[in-house]
Amino acid sequence: MGKPKAKVSISKCLACCGCISVCPQHAISWCGNKALINDEECISCAICIRTCPVGAISGDGF
Ligand code: SF4
Ligand code: SF4
Repeated sequence: MGKPKAKVSISKCLACCGCISVCPQHAISWCGNKALINDEECISCAICIRTCPVGAISGDGF
């Protein structure tokens, strides 16, 4: 088991683009009209979690 990764709640995401532009790993892309985090790239830095205006991104313990 690796480190927990950030997850987007699809039902909460407003597609504002904020998280995509701040991710230092460029781990977030669009899936349809929602943000999608690539587990392989995410380093669990929590920047996207702090950036999301609607609290749509969560991390398990970070
Ligand atoms: S936790 Fe950090 S590395 Fe992972 S998706 Fe969010 S901003 Fe990118
Ligand atoms: S910052 Fe939040 S609302 Fe905006 S695209 Fe990312 S997950 Fe969706």
